Amino acid sequence: MRNPFRLLPEQAHFAPELERAIVDELYKRAWGAFAALMLVLAVAGSILKEAIQRHPPIGRVLMLMAAVTLLRTFSLVLLRSLPSPRLRLWGFVTGSTLIAFGFAELNIISFPYLEPPELALLGMIDLGICSGALMSMGSSFLTYMLYVIPNVGSIALVVAFGPSTRWNQNFLLLGCIYLAALILLAFQFALAYRREILLRMEMSEMALRDNLTQLRNRRALLEFMSLESEQVLRSWRITPDPTHPRPALSLGILMLDLDHFKAVNDTHGHLAGDAVLKQVAAILTETARKPDMVVRWGGEEFVIVARDTDRKPPSRLAERIREQIEQHVFTLPSGQTIPVTCSIGYSVFPFDEKLPEILTWEQLISVADSGMYFAKTHGRNRCVGVMVGDQLQEDSNILNRLEQSLEQTQVDGLVRLVD
Ligand code: GH3
Ligand code: MG
Ligand code: MG
Repeated sequence: MRNPFRLLPEQAHFAPELERAIVDELYKRAWGAFAALMLVLAVAGSILKEAIQRHPPIGRVLMLMAAVTLLRTFSLVLLRSLPSPRLRLWGFVTGSTLIAFGFAELNIISFPYLEPPELALLGMIDLGICSGALMSMGSSFLTYMLYVIPNVGSIALVVAFGPSTRWNQNFLLLGCIYLAALILLAFQFALAYRREILLRMEMSEMALRDNLTQLRNRRALLEFMSLESEQVLRSWRITPDPTHPRPALSLGILMLDLDHFKAVNDTHGHLAGDAVLKQVAAILTETARKPDMVVRWGGEEFVIVARDTDRKPPSRLAERIREQIEQHVFTLPSGQTIPVTCSIGYSVFPFDEKLPEILTWEQLISVADSGMYFAKTHGRNRCVGVMVGDQLQEDSNILNRLEQSLEQTQVDGLVRLVD
């Protein structure tokens, strides 16, 4: 039988995020669990009042448990900032297990001093603890078991080694039935919870990917760039320090459009066109580096955002992509092979070192687009970079000028074209 807690191979990349989500959830409930535990300890204290008078160490164990509960809740506040979810999980489990052993100790030492009704009430508290743990720890089956085992083990121990009465036997039998039911519930709860988180992750991933090519879509680019562009701009806002040259973060922005792609559809059919798009996507993913963002912008247009630190135009990357596509033998579903080429326009964000905020990243996509159209009208299968010219002013209205004529904008010195 397949382990239901094991992720499917196609879900494997969710593992770290899933672990983090589960641990985050446990931590979120820490204060609720604290309040519940303190209440339970107060109730236990009132049930055990007579037993404490006869055997004071029971009272001391109760006080110790209250202290441990408080300490554990505060330590969780500190552990919350640990970057590793696994360490945080073990921090949580250690605290819970200590408390569980506290309850076990309480069961063992108070048992000889209890009357049957008090024993039954204490049993109900144990049951309450197990159920509470089920609610707060259902997300992780292991943590739940660590909580339950000392509790139930201690009851089994006192029943097994205590005086054998009818009360004890019934107590043990009832305990076993409840335990079985609780473990089953915990199992279902943990599984359902994992499934819910996984489903949420799969849905949000689906919403950020293009169906045909499995590349990121425009929405994913928007999410990525709203954070990334802000980080780049922040690095340019820092006042320059002569002893520490400022980190010049930048992003290369490439716009790629396949040449005469309509002809592929018209000659070989739409499915053949789709096959070409998928192969282009694979080439782009392979050629770009891991931190780069490859996006299907629409139809047969792709955007690549390359992270960089030296503000150089991404000419080498553009040229490498163009070459890879030109050299690739595209195989169609019919088995036939065809050549495909592309035209690429590119630019860099921020556009101008002196005026880093003169163009937004969305506007730079238009700039790269104008480079791509220039490549289209000048022979196709080539790369054209549109970089800042030395005459650019804050009020140059560069986007409108580019839309009217890239050549004139270049002649006016607002932009500089690079191959
Ligand atoms: P150019 O070199 O000027 O870019 O010429 P082109 O034929 O590539 O340009 P055009 O924009 O006229 O054609 C784009 C074509 O891309 C038209 C459309 O049928 C096709 N297309 C867009 N999305 C898809 C898709 O998902 N699958 C397929 N098979 N074709 C698509
Ligand atoms: Mg197009
Ligand atoms: Mg095209």
